[in-house]
Amino acid sequence: MTTPTPTPTPTAPVRDRALSLAGHQLPAYIYDLGALREHAASVRSALPERVELYYAAKANPEPEILTALAPYVHGYEVSSGGELAHVTASVPDRPLAFGGPGKTPDEIAAALELGVARFHVESAYELRMLAELASRTAPGRRIAVLLRFNLPVAARSLEGSALTMGGRPAPFGMDPAEADDAVRALTDGSHPQLELRGIHAHLASGLAAAEQLAVAEAVVTWAAGLAARHRIPLHEVNVGGGMTVDYARPGARFDWAAFGTGLARIAAAHPGPLLRIEPGRALSAYCGWYATEVLDVKHSHGEDFAVVRGGTHHLRTPATKGHDQPAAVLPMDTWPHPWPRAAARQDVITLTGQLCTPKDVLARRVPAAGLRAGDRVVFALAGAYAWNISHHDFLMHPRPGFHFLAPAFPEPTPPHGP
Ligand SMILES: *Cc1c(COP(=O)(O)O)cnc(C)c1O
Repeated sequence: MTTPTPTPTPTAPVRDRALSLAGHQLPAYIYDLGALREHAASVRSALPERVELYYAAKANPEPEILTALAPYVHGYEVSSGGELAHVTASVPDRPLAFGGPGKTPDEIAAALELGVARFHVESAYELRMLAELASRTAPGRRIAVLLRFNLPVAARSLEGSALTMGGRPAPFGMDPAEADDAVRALTDGSHPQLELRGIHAHLASGLAAAEQLAVAEAVVTWAAGLAARHRIPLHEVNVGGGMTVDYARPGARFDWAAFGTGLARIAAAHPGPLLRIEPGRALSAYCGWYATEVLDVKHSHGEDFAVVRGGTHHLRTPATKGHDQPAAVLPMDTWPHPWPRAAARQDVITLTGQLCTPKDVLARRVPAAGLRAGDRVVFALAGAYAWNISHHDFLMHPRPGFHFLAPAFPEPTPPHGP
């Protein structure tokens, strides 16, 4: 492949911070909370009435991120007891939806005690467990349930291409063949505390707006059919997250305006239920940057490599997704050492980390003519599934610093200890 990896443009606050930190203060995660707020506000304003926005905390649960998003989201989706406790502490008294496979009895009991607003129930077994634990832990209280289904959605995208989502063997959600039994279990009086509020489906990730709308429409139609068959009200349909982030085009964004227009059309065709989306990646990815410095530059069998401080043990995203993380070089004119700087010979270079494994590649084909040891590199789209999915302790290098930049809304940033 010869296509160069695209060069992102860091925001001014990110650029200034990346250049002002000393070498030993790198690598660092730099989050532009002003940019996050701006982005979240534009997402929110694109959504019509009767559509709620939850943030899937697993994409990036840093308390500063959760807090910055608070004015723009209706609630948070949590997928473990750990996230439940953490999100409750970081943004108290916000509506939570507790989802995810393999909820333990202790986690469910903790969620009941915290008064979690709704449960996304993943199986018939989990439903029985929830009913029993509710009667013990929260006697008399009504518990809102959304049944999660792994639906075989065959839909046509707005561009006309056929789409098949879900419906494959998976540990997520319930098989649609179990739908009638599950609805009966919630409506025949056997679990009086559980209230069937609606249906949840999160079927794919990485979908553009047209595909996402086709899936949402199919999910809502299926849910409405199920409710009609059982003559029960349908209060809510959660159509999940998975809005795409295009790592090959760091300046591009999911088309929230088209998505909002399409959701309004779906809502108009299905009067009644509230629709809800729960994106993670497409909300937080853009505000995060991983900044570092070039430690060494070398030429090996015809190709240039730059080794940077840190690596995929901090930013695992390119290794897990198999892409090149968009990177911008910030040249440094100052050089603190008496020895000469290592320098690139070629115009494109592979950026690797400090790990002793060939998998520690952050980006290939980065346009970096003249790159030298001591130059700074900032990796974009590092605000989701980045630090929190990485194997921090492998090789025992120091942890990165964390910087939460909020120029327009100054806020104390608590120290981020290991
Ligand atoms: C991971 C997840 C999300 C968020 O997915 P993104 O791709 O980050 O938008 C939403 N809902 C559920 C159930 C998930 O597991």
